[in-house]
Amino acid sequence: MYLGCIADDLTGATDVALMLQNAGMRTIQSIGVPAGFEPGDADVVVVALKSRTAPAADAAAQSLAALAWLRRRGAGQILFKYCSTFDSTDAGNIGPVADALLDAMGVPFTVACPAFPTNKRTVYLGHLFVGEQLLSDSPMRDHPLTPMRDANLVRVLGRQTKRTVGLVALPTVRQGAAAMKEAFEKLRGSGYGYAIVDAVSDQDLLALGAACAELPLLTGGSGIAMGLPANFGVRRGGEAAIPAVGGHAAVLSGSCSAQSNAQVAQWVKTRPSFRIDPLQLADGMDLATAALAWAEPLLAAGPVLAFATAEPDAVRKAQARLGAQRAGELVEQCLAQVARGLVERGVRRLVVAGGETSGAVVNALGVRALRIGPQIDPGVPWTQTVETPVGEPRLALALKSGNFGTIDFFDKALGMQQ
Ligand code: ADP
Repeated sequence: MYLGCIADDLTGATDVALMLQNAGMRTIQSIGVPAGFEPGDADVVVVALKSRTAPAADAAAQSLAALAWLRRRGAGQILFKYCSTFDSTDAGNIGPVADALLDAMGVPFTVACPAFPTNKRTVYLGHLFVGEQLLSDSPMRDHPLTPMRDANLVRVLGRQTKRTVGLVALPTVRQGAAAMKEAFEKLRGSGYGYAIVDAVSDQDLLALGAACAELPLLTGGSGIAMGLPANFGVRRGGEAAIPAVGGHAAVLSGSCSAQSNAQVAQWVKTRPSFRIDPLQLADGMDLATAALAWAEPLLAAGPVLAFATAEPDAVRKAQARLGAQRAGELVEQCLAQVARGLVERGVRRLVVAGGETSGAVVNALGVRALRIGPQIDPGVPWTQTVETPVGEPRLALALKSGNFGTIDFFDKALGMQQ
């Protein structure tokens, strides 16, 4: 195994797995720390954790367990993958997890670069931009669990780590890999534990990949993986196909991102949909049973959507009464139950919007590993389950991080996988 990835959420894991697969590396994604499965001939194993919003100590412990598994199987380099919008709070978990990995590996220094220019995430002078907006002016400022109100990543990471955070700015990045390596050495020699690295184009990321060839640990968004396959001399090429699974289809959305709101609004105009309201769940309404009873007679005619996706005002209202954590849990549990019920009713193709939501859904379905299939939109592939408990049907899953995908994503995805 050339590379072991530890991803802090499920859709983030799928995103980086797609990046590596498209670059020609045989990639398998494990849901949680692998148990009872071996990597076979995989070049890369991506371990998808659900650690982004867990308590920091728990996130670090999960990550260290993943690290131990990957190192025992000979992973030559470790990538800690987080969101391209640096989703975290002052309590963590990017800093605490990266610190724990550095400590465990006995490594003094690593890089941090969430840039993903294809999806309009760029880092300039240490500041993260979403499109033309600073992160802190973007809709990420209203994320239900990790509101991002500071775009200066040197500061943001600095608040989360016991180490000092430096910057390798674009002029150095543009001088190429050798200049970057020199800058890393200089920072490391001055006692810095991290360098935020600027990147505004794929070229910058490719150069960064080359500059990181000898670092035992890297941290970043999926973009940082772009330049890594060349370091290993791997270029198998070709996107992987997955066989059709047939069956009924459904969409579940628990993401409240601006893009998911737009995608849900587009679907609701013409297609069957069922709304899940956290306030009604808190009042004891069994919306999972209601959603399944509603969906059952419709499935034969085409895909249905169950969603908790809501605009920031509605999210704030639910959170004011329930707290962010409780509101999120209620919705995740409900959508997970709906997912199980849908599979029992013959659904085999499932699109899920939201990282945390996807984590809850695959856990409820008992999915342990995913093979990466063709790309639907940047960062989002179709996947197929490779390890389900005995007797479980094989499923095709499209797990979409909240902000990803075009406005017609749900239709586009289902159109690709009949
Ligand atoms: P994203 O990928 O957009 O970050 P996630 O699924 O990771 O999406 O996170 C969204 C969180 O918001 C989940 O915990 C989800 O349960 C929660 N949530 C969904 N709908 C609502 C709502 N209407 N009110 C409050 N929280 C919600």
